[in-house]
Amino acid sequence: MKITVYDGADTIGGTKIHVEEKGNGLFLDFGMNFARYSLYYEEFISERSARGIHDLWHLGLIPKLNIYRKDLIPRDLDTSSYPKLPVNAVLISHAHLDHVGNVALLDGSIPLVGSPTTIAIIKALNDTAAGGSHFGMEIPYYKVRKNRDEEGHILEADRNSHYPSRKVILTGKAEQLNEFLFYSPKSKKKIIPNEVKTLGEEELGFEVKAFPVDHSIYGATAHVVEGDVSLAYTGDFRLHGKNGNETKKFIREAGNVSILITEGTRVGREEHENVSEEEVYENALEIVEGAKGLVVADFSARNFERLETFEKIAREAGRELVITAKDAYFLHALKMVDGADRLENVRIYGNFKATRQRWETLVVWENYGDRYISPFEIRANQENYILCFSFYDMPHLLDVMPHGGVYIYSSSEAFGEEQEFSFLRLWNWLRYFGFEVHGFKVDEHGKPVFERGLHASGHVSREELVRVIDEIDPDYIIPVHTENPMWFKENWGEKTVVLKNGERWEI
Ligand SMILES: [Zn+2]
Repeated sequence: MKITVYDGADTIGGTKIHVEEKGNGLFLDFGMNFARYSLYYEEFISERSARGIHDLWHLGLIPKLNIYRKDLIPRDLDTSSYPKLPVNAVLISHAHLDHVGNVALLDGSIPLVGSPTTIAIIKALNDTAAGGSHFGMEIPYYKVRKNRDEEGHILEADRNSHYPSRKVILTGKAEQLNEFLFYSPKSKKKIIPNEVKTLGEEELGFEVKAFPVDHSIYGATAHVVEGDVSLAYTGDFRLHGKNGNETKKFIREAGNVSILITEGTRVGREEHENVSEEEVYENALEIVEGAKGLVVADFSARNFERLETFEKIAREAGRELVITAKDAYFLHALKMVDGADRLENVRIYGNFKATRQRWETLVVWENYGDRYISPFEIRANQENYILCFSFYDMPHLLDVMPHGGVYIYSSSEAFGEEQEFSFLRLWNWLRYFGFEVHGFKVDEHGKPVFERGLHASGHVSREELVRVIDEIDPDYIIPVHTENPMWFKENWGEKTVVLKNGERWEI
C-alpha cells in the first residue's frame, strides 16, 4: 500500500490523502487549504472562476495531478503530463470546507462516499451558495463550463446544459434522500440524476468501513480501509459532544488496524481543558434566564448540535428560537435524511430583502411559511426570543432595533489579524445596540479576548488523543490536520511516520 499526503500534512485543514494499491486508489478527503489560500487571497480577492483551475494550479493551492474536471481546464493549461492517479472514489469525512472544499474540482466521474447526513449538507451548501459562476461548492452536482471563445482561455457556464451529478455512495441507508439529491432549487435547470448506492454495493478496490464519530457538525465519519494492510482515518473528531459514544465505538473497532491516520488539531496549542457541550448548555442557560430584552446567540452556521443546545435553552427560558432561512434550509436537508422535523419549535427570520432566492421560496417558504416571523414582531416583544445571528447578520439588527439585551458568542476564537479586525467591527455593532456581551470582549488595545465556557471545541484534546492512540495501538501513526506533527514523533517515536505534503510512503 502506498500512502501520499498531498496536502494538509502540517496545516489545520486542506486534507488530501491518497491511498493506492494494485492500481486501485482512493482519496481520503479533498479539502480546501485555508492557510495556503490566505497567502494570496482574502475576502474580496479570490481565484477567477472564468479561468477554471488555472489560478489554483499555478499558485500551488491544489496538487499538480491529472485528476481534475476537464471543463475547468482552460486551453492554456496542460495537465496531461502530470500523474494520473487511480481514484475509485473520494471518501468524505465530514462537510467542513477544509475537508470537502476542493472535491468539486475533481473529475466528474469520481464518486463520493459519505454519510447520508454529510451528503445532504453538502448538497444544501451547493443549493444555497451565492449565485455567480463560482465552482467551489459544486458537489454533488455542477454547472458545466464551456469555452467562451475560439482560444479557449475563458470559461463560462454552459447555458444549454442541465447539471450533471456525481455517483454517490452512502455509508448508510437513507431512501428519502434521493429525491432531495436530484431536486434543483437553484434555477429552472434540472439535476441529471446519477446512481446512489450504499457502501458494500460498489466495488471500490478496497474494503471500506464507515464509523460515525462525534464532531462539531453532524454526519462526521471515520473510515477503515482494508487492502493488504488496514488503515483507519479519523477525520475530525472529539469525545466530549453529544455523540461521544460513537467515537468510542470507532476506537474499539479500529483496534486491529496497522496504520492510523489521525487529526492533531489541538496538540500544538496551549490548551485549557475541554468544555463539553453540556457545560455550554448550562452556562448559556444561566445567562439567558437572567437576560432582559433580546438574546442573540452567535455560533457557527453548520453546528447543528449547538443550534439544538440553544433551542433547548429557549424552551427552558420560555423563549422562541429564531433562525435564518439558510439555517432552516439545512434543517430541512437533515430531515431528508432521518425524517425528524427540527423546525417544529423554531421560528424563521423574515429578512427584509429585495428579492428572495429561489431555494428559499421553493423550499423554506413553501414548507415552513407559517414559521416565519418579521423583524417588527421581534422588535415589539424582544424578551420572547433568542435570535441566532452572527457578525454577517448585524446589518439586519437595524430592523429589530434591540435596546439592551444580551449577546452570547458561542464559537471559536479568532485566528489571524483579519479575524481580529472583524471582532472589532462586531464589537462596534454590539456597543451600538447596547448589548451585554458574553463570550468575548475587546481590550484597550483593540484585541479580542475570549471567555471560556460558552464554546465546546470540535476536536479531541491533546490528553485524550494520547489515550485514543494508545488504545488503538497501531503499528504506524501518520499525523495530519495539525501544525505540530513532531509532537507525535516525540510521543510515539519510530511508530510515527511524518510525511511532508506530496511525500509518498510505502508499506
Ligand atoms: Zn471539521
